[in-house]
Amino acid sequence: MTEKIGFIGAGNMAGAIINGLLRQGVCPADHLAVYDHHSTHYARFEERGVCGVETVRQLVKFADIIFLSVKPQNYDEVLQNICPFAEGKIIVSIAAGISSAYIKERLGDAAKIALAMPNTPLLLGEGATALCQCSPLTDVEYAKVKAVFAAGGVVQDLPEEQMAAVISVSGSSPAYVYLFAKAVIAGAVEQGIDVAVAKALIAQTLIGSAKMLTDSGIEPDELIRMVSSKGGTTIAALDALYAHGFEQAVIDGMRQCTRRAKELG
Ligand code: NAD
Repeated sequence: MTEKIGFIGAGNMAGAIINGLLRQGVCPADHLAVYDHHSTHYARFEERGVCGVETVRQLVKFADIIFLSVKPQNYDEVLQNICPFAEGKIIVSIAAGISSAYIKERLGDAAKIALAMPNTPLLLGEGATALCQCSPLTDVEYAKVKAVFAAGGVVQDLPEEQMAAVISVSGSSPAYVYLFAKAVIAGAVEQGIDVAVAKALIAQTLIGSAKMLTDSGIEPDELIRMVSSKGGTTIAALDALYAHGFEQAVIDGMRQCTRRAKELG
């Protein structure tokens, strides 16, 4: 990729995206730059050859594609700061609840915008990113943004009206998975199994089960049936989970997630 890519906000997500780009060799380190309020955050970028610049203006002049990798509450200030220099640049938002209309109100209708919802496994190149192309971003420009996220995992295209809801599917859901893992570890310890052993077993079970979902072509209901024999142990476990409203609890959590995303927007 020949484009230069800049990140406003040198935090976890910027680090994760940059890791993917460098690991996959999508672009050289000198095509990347970061800007942050706190230049103390630059060390881990600079040691990999990524430049930390002193001003927003330098960052925007340097970059063809600008990632807004700050928290939603900092967007207003950042958009005001980049507005005078941002014409013709591709702007990528990764924040919950920020719409293309919100960005266009501040940068103008000609702003070329992509909205992304990545998740933290991106740190390890195993991310899941929902991505949305907003007019007037062209297909060619969108493909470049997509290549950035594809360096860190799987990317799915979504229409903007689904970008709030998708936070509940992939943006926030790593936390539900960790909560499930935590419960399994607690259940194991209660039965006398060592914490480290339980953690290793449930982590690999999650990896293996996820691979069954992605690679086997078998639907979740059938995968559940494959583990469950009549009158057996899995059915006994599932009966207890159903009785406690496990599925409904997850669905309700997702509804709350989306409600909050819409409040933030
Ligand atoms: P972070 O706190 O690690 O990084 C944000 C950085 O922005 C900090 O280094 C901060 O100093 C800097 N910053 C704040 N205001 C600034 C300003 N005005 N100018 C320049 N820099 C400024 O946050 P993160 O976890 O990397 O999240 C970044 C964005 O990614 C957020 O909008 C978040 O909603 C989104 N996101 C996060 C996740 C996640 O799971 N962490 C998932 C999807 C999307």
